[in-house]
Amino acid sequence: MVRSLLLVGVGFMGGSLTLALRKRGFGGEILGVDLSQEAIAKGIERGAIDRGWTSLEEVDDWDVDMVVIATPVRTFRRIGEDLKGFVRKDTVVTDLGSVKGRLVEDLERILGKTFVGGHPIAGTEKSGVQNSNPDLFEGKKVIITPTGRTDREAVEKVRGMWEETGAVVEFMDAHLHDWVFGAVSHLPHAVAFALIDAIIEMSGEFDLFRYPGAGFKDFTRIAASDPVMWRDIFLENRENTLRAIDIYISSLKKLRGLIKEEKIDQLTAFLEEVKDRRMNLE
Ligand code: NAD
Repeated sequence: MVRSLLLVGVGFMGGSLTLALRKRGFGGEILGVDLSQEAIAKGIERGAIDRGWTSLEEVDDWDVDMVVIATPVRTFRRIGEDLKGFVRKDTVVTDLGSVKGRLVEDLERILGKTFVGGHPIAGTEKSGVQNSNPDLFEGKKVIITPTGRTDREAVEKVRGMWEETGAVVEFMDAHLHDWVFGAVSHLPHAVAFALIDAIIEMSGEFDLFRYPGAGFKDFTRIAASDPVMWRDIFLENRENTLRAIDIYISSLKKLRGLIKEEKIDQLTAFLEEVKDRRMNLE
């Protein structure tokens, strides 16, 4: 059982996790570390952490059962190296990062068998602890990516923590995870960012952003997501994201060809098939 927790990165996701645990009766101390003093202050005000510091060196109590890393993914290796000097041998370290694969291998190499990779499949385009939501994980999937070396007890502690929040835990290989989420999460974000860029390109003297339809707003909501977080995700899952973008470009070209050549029947069939697949999602 986890009695005390250190959150590294007191932002939207980390705050949502600790608020969810608090709401469901977690009585232990929750410590926080964030580069931003403002995030620490807001985290305390919001009840997401009890005490906090702007660096790991300042933490005055390392008797914590669990450390949760909830910063942008490209900071994880450095944070892992820093944590190594402080954590107890049996402290479980886990993360909320959107990329796993090599990152999990590296963190396991740095921290040993008590590191357990995790990725909650929940979130929004909003960031910051002020937007945290204690019910964010209710009924949502959380992917845990243990390797052959991961300590079983550590895995069970991480699973227990997530189940406490109302989430449904699923296990997956870390590299498979990156291929899957490269396709269904990282590609749609890339497309939304690129679509806004295309509209900027097309808005010469005439500002197209004055006429946003409902479809445009729905489709591009996620382009308002945090740039640093997404820069890190694209770079950390570079190969899978590039592969997904290439396949998407082929699909766009297929659609372009059908429109250009006015292939009425094939265009209808294409749109019908896509619509069916999308409707099956609901
Ligand atoms: P956020 O911007 O709300 O919070 C990140 C916090 O980390 C900020 O307060 C920032 O000051 C702090 N930080 C940055 N670098 C740091 C460092 N080196 N040391 C200490 N603190 C540092 O971001 P978020 O949305 O909470 O995302 C956090 C993690 O969760 C990311 O790894 C992201 O991939 C993952 N994630 C996000 C979502 C989502 O929808 N937002 C969903 C699933 C997973």
